[in-house]
Amino acid sequence: MNVKDLTSWIEISQKAYCKNIDFFRSRVAKGTELSVVIKANGYGHGILEIAKLADKKGISTFCVNSLDEALVLKDGGFLQNILILGPVMLNRIKTVVENGFECVCYNIENLKVFEEAASARNKSAKIHIKIETGTNRQGIKGKKLNDFLDELSVCKNIELMGVYSHFANIEDTTDHSYAQYQKTSFMEAVSFIRKSGFKDFKLHFASSAAAAIFKDTHFDMIRLGISQYGLWSSKETYLTYISEHGHGSEHILDPVLTWKAKIAQIKDVGKGEFVGYGCTKQVTRDSKIAVLPVGYSDGFDRKLSNQGYVLIHGKRAPVQGRVAMNLTMVDVTDIPGAAIEDEVVLIGKQKDEEIRAEHVAALCGTINYETVARIAAHIPRIIVQ
Ligand SMILES: *Cc1c(COP(=O)(O)O)cnc(C)c1O
Repeated sequence: MNVKDLTSWIEISQKAYCKNIDFFRSRVAKGTELSVVIKANGYGHGILEIAKLADKKGISTFCVNSLDEALVLKDGGFLQNILILGPVMLNRIKTVVENGFECVCYNIENLKVFEEAASARNKSAKIHIKIETGTNRQGIKGKKLNDFLDELSVCKNIELMGVYSHFANIEDTTDHSYAQYQKTSFMEAVSFIRKSGFKDFKLHFASSAAAAIFKDTHFDMIRLGISQYGLWSSKETYLTYISEHGHGSEHILDPVLTWKAKIAQIKDVGKGEFVGYGCTKQVTRDSKIAVLPVGYSDGFDRKLSNQGYVLIHGKRAPVQGRVAMNLTMVDVTDIPGAAIEDEVVLIGKQKDEEIRAEHVAALCGTINYETVARIAAHIPRIIVQ
């Protein structure tokens, strides 16, 4: 891939990625495994590119959402343990078993199909039970857990690899009483599972926020998502971390992704003329407008219309008019040297300026997770030093 040929691309910084992983390695205890969550195309960073970097860092478990993502990794030649965290339809459970993937399980219906598929193939099915502790998303508790364990105890081909849960309210608050409550419920369920005769399974609970600020949730493994990419789960998590660790800890994580494009055209637009669909922008001075080869179908959110900005020559160029499906116009009147095929930064640093995913997210009324996860998969990802 030659950058000269590309209208828009994403650079993935190996240096930043390594720094973030090293930071979390230093946070977790010796016996705690660091697994990485690379669902949603590696949070928009590119699943195979991130798997490659994680592999270089010696990560031995990849967590994904779907069976298809697991297959992409396997086809990519990765030999790590692959844990599927999201739902798999009953009809495809055999594929999970055939490939030796680990998979979440919280329905008796699924458990029975795992057992059948494994016994028919003379294999074992590797499951992780998800405990309902207060998110009320996936998971089981109480009587249902009891029934599930009864069924599990007669399954001969199921290997119980792990028991886990997920926090509902760590990143949105600095008050961790709900997290404590979830942890207590989790420990009760775990002791019940142990009393029912199951042993030798891993416990895991923490995602990025808990991994950064809540050490006693690390158990046997953390599931590191957003923060491996150098982004904090939230402002609250960031502030909690730096208030505990003081000055100098602000730059402990480095964003891994830079989204770039090139100027496709520059045109003179006279005072009073309109720009873009719906004529929502009327320029109030003689302007130079740059046309950029990115739009909402690439993941450059339409909410950035007349609101967002990009970096050109290290300066901010504001979006003019509506973001279209594949094109966006920006004002470069105050960036006199701007010329066609000059580099544009949509997310990331250019000279002394930086557009963070959080800035874009705030303009769009969302969170950094959504901003990066929605960058379209068709944009080339390039690993750089
Ligand atoms: C997505 C996800 C994670 C990772 O969360 P981050 O906040 O991105 O670290 C961990 N566990 C589960 C179950 C998830 O779905």
